[in-house]
Amino acid sequence: MLTLPPSKLPRVGTTIFTVMSRLAQECGAINLSQGFPDFDPPPRLVDLVAEHMRRGVNQYAPMAGWPALLEAIAAKVLDLYGCRVDPQASVTVTSGATEALFCAVHAVVRPGDEVILLEPAYDSYEPAVELAGGHAVRVPLRRPGFGVDWHRVREAINPRTRLLIVNSPHNPTGAVFAPEDLDALEDILRDNGVLVLSDEVYEHIVFDGRAHQSLLTRPSLVSRSFVVSSFGKTYHCTGWKVGYCVAPPGLTAEFRKVHQFVQFAVASPMQAALAQFLAECPGHARELGGFYQRKRDRFLELLTATPLRPIPTAGTYFQLADYSAVSEQPDVEFARALTREIGVAAIPVSVFSAGAPPERLVRFCFAKNDATLDAAGERLSRLVAPGGCR
Ligand code: PMP
Ligand code: GLN
Repeated sequence: MLTLPPSKLPRVGTTIFTVMSRLAQECGAINLSQGFPDFDPPPRLVDLVAEHMRRGVNQYAPMAGWPALLEAIAAKVLDLYGCRVDPQASVTVTSGATEALFCAVHAVVRPGDEVILLEPAYDSYEPAVELAGGHAVRVPLRRPGFGVDWHRVREAINPRTRLLIVNSPHNPTGAVFAPEDLDALEDILRDNGVLVLSDEVYEHIVFDGRAHQSLLTRPSLVSRSFVVSSFGKTYHCTGWKVGYCVAPPGLTAEFRKVHQFVQFAVASPMQAALAQFLAECPGHARELGGFYQRKRDRFLELLTATPLRPIPTAGTYFQLADYSAVSEQPDVEFARALTREIGVAAIPVSVFSAGAPPERLVRFCFAKNDATLDAAGERLSRLVAPGGCR
């Protein structure tokens, strides 16, 4: 009998997104857990994919990305963030942001290196760090607003620190950076060689007149950062898994050494279609914040008829809610009960933290048709305080 070697990720199970989406399906619950829209990408974008397939765009794309898409991304970051990059040397198209995050970590993290994560942290960061032999150092975000405690970040930096991972707009909390956060980041990194991985997949989903604070707006940060985004979030096509990474040429060269053996190249018809769509419809991304703000506000209005207490969200398509008026259950149990008994699936927030003090918070995804949100709101209004789910 073969004895399996010890797991390389002993503390990792199946992701919460898989677990909760499966439970939602089993229970016939409205799935506000895993983050994805229940509506389609723009019809023109879908037509373009089919068109490119019919025109013969069906073989391997270039390893770094479809040239027209690399150029469209470079044009976009110049237009939005004033950052001029060479598309061939500094932009790489990846299989979703997930692959970009993994490749960036593996491009620079060596055994024994420390990587600072801000907690709660998106679930894929730490396993990538551990597989690279690195050690995740978690710095908690401040309560109640989930801002970054830059003083604690500064204190966590030492000669072993290789990388700092930041994420704005932030999943799961919906917190976003202000310009002062970038000031603090520049200040902290001035005298050391720490690199930055900036997860900006929700860059176009910011609310209430705020502007997204991309690291690409600051030259001193551009020179040491991998900036990652995802077309899945912006064009309602999470299932296509197309994302990208912008980094200076030296970092991009190392990034591509990993990317070429993890993925090699990304689906060519999607890349060709996205390149054309970005050029034809620049307004889509600009209107996304308003589009999702209306959904956030609708969902918040629905929550007023429930005992759930929303935590303000300034970006992303996620809304946190405090359920302490309803139940004393830990969040994983509460999320399961909510799915089974009320018929609405949500994500327990503790899964994004390691050993943080318990909080009574769940995350809802409001990237849904209004009818879905209304139906979820109606079900959530059956929650009663005090006591558990009925
Ligand atoms: N980072 C964050 C913060 C995310 O929320 C997600 C997915 N929702 C990803 C990365 C991964 O994006 P993709 O689906 O493009 O791999
Ligand atoms: N990022 C999505 C979320 O936060 C899920 C992506 C996934 O399932 N891996 O819900």
